[in-house]
Amino acid sequence: MEYRQERCRRVVLVPLPFQGHITPMLYLGTILHSKGFHITIAHTQFNFPNPLNYPHFDFLKLYDGICEQNISAHNFIAVISGFNTNCKGHLRDSLARIMEKVDQHNKIACIIYDEYMHFAEEVANYLRIPSIILSTSSAAKTLSYLAYPRLQNDGYIPCQDSMMLELVPGLEPLRFKDLTITYFRNWDDLLQHIAKALDRRSSSAMIWNSMDCLEQSTLKKIQQEYQLPLFPIGPLNKTVPAISISLLKEDQSCIPWLDKQSHNSVIYISLGSCASMDNKDLVEMAWGLSNSEQPFLWVVRMDSTELPEGFQEAVGDRGCIVKWAPQKQVLVHTAVGGFWSHCGWNSTIESISEGVPLICQPYYGDQRVNARYLTQVWGVGLEWESDMNRGEIEGAIRRLMVGKEGELIRQRAKDLKEKIESSMKQGGSSYNSMNDLVDLILSF
Ligand code: UDP
Repeated sequence: MEYRQERCRRVVLVPLPFQGHITPMLYLGTILHSKGFHITIAHTQFNFPNPLNYPHFDFLKLYDGICEQNISAHNFIAVISGFNTNCKGHLRDSLARIMEKVDQHNKIACIIYDEYMHFAEEVANYLRIPSIILSTSSAAKTLSYLAYPRLQNDGYIPCQDSMMLELVPGLEPLRFKDLTITYFRNWDDLLQHIAKALDRRSSSAMIWNSMDCLEQSTLKKIQQEYQLPLFPIGPLNKTVPAISISLLKEDQSCIPWLDKQSHNSVIYISLGSCASMDNKDLVEMAWGLSNSEQPFLWVVRMDSTELPEGFQEAVGDRGCIVKWAPQKQVLVHTAVGGFWSHCGWNSTIESISEGVPLICQPYYGDQRVNARYLTQVWGVGLEWESDMNRGEIEGAIRRLMVGKEGELIRQRAKDLKEKIESSMKQGGSSYNSMNDLVDLILSF
């Protein structure tokens, strides 16, 4: 990254404290720092990063009032509401104190906040500071959320079982089964939560970890809705030098193992930081991998004693199992030829920006939307829709890694990677968006 002159302005970043949200926000902070801004990360106590790992940032710890044991994917909405209620006063008072000591270095240019941490926008308004939203997911997901009131008015929500495979009017190629709301029993709560996250009352712009070559038409529709400048500046994982933003310790032992495997031969399996297979599916996956005869690198976050008896002996050196992988390094490795993924947005962007084709096994949230785009729009993935069954798992791996179909998908992934690389070069769309974003912040 090029270094420009000292800007002597401070930008305050407010991430949602989960791995898939912290990572893009800290990448963004690193880029803005390289452009000369001072950066303050205002972070909840929960998952608070070790400041020693980020000497280029200042940190502000926000009292969040959340009991760590109560945090799970099942009560996501309650936890986010808690952050929004509990952190507001502390952020407001801390920033007000910083602003009292106004000198060149402490002048706050703006607050950039995760779309779910909307209390930061209220704080910005109170302190009369501009604010900008960072969306850490796909534009396609946001477009689907924007359609919910219309779908509710037209009687499609709550979704009927008989409709699941039908295309959603206005959101093709998404089917009703791909919508986040389909899987929520308390869909009324979800609608309220989404309405808050989508309400762009007063922010000045939105930043996306996405690219025009991926989502230009979707971004255009969102812009029509919001009438705000949008800055698709992705892929952030490629713009930032090799820094690790992992909450868990990365097991580096898989890299020398990858070095011993041949080009494009390894299938990498990881379901991100939240989703996980139940025990029955884990056993089927183990035997599917074993029978596929492909080398594999598998992230098993739970205790690997859950793996079936005889499996490790059956696969020997052909398999490498870790609790948490250095995923960026894995996907860039030439031995990796495929990614069995839950299709979280970061994993999606990291995979396609390295030209690695996927087997898409989405679980919840935006993952189904991403999987649908990966398989139906960008054509760089195989859709996994069956129950977990060792025979089908073996078949899917072979289709992607050694079959004719896999060859076509791999070629499309390579073409997409090239387009993404062009967008990052001088004059490319992401490159220009980043410069426009810096100009906007300087204009405040
Ligand atoms: N990740 C990693 N090692 C692993 C698994 C995941 O470093 O073994 C990282 C991955 O590179 C990505 C993030 O964790 O940046 C997961 O984010 P994503 O949006 O894909 O999924 P989430 O965890 O939010 O469901």
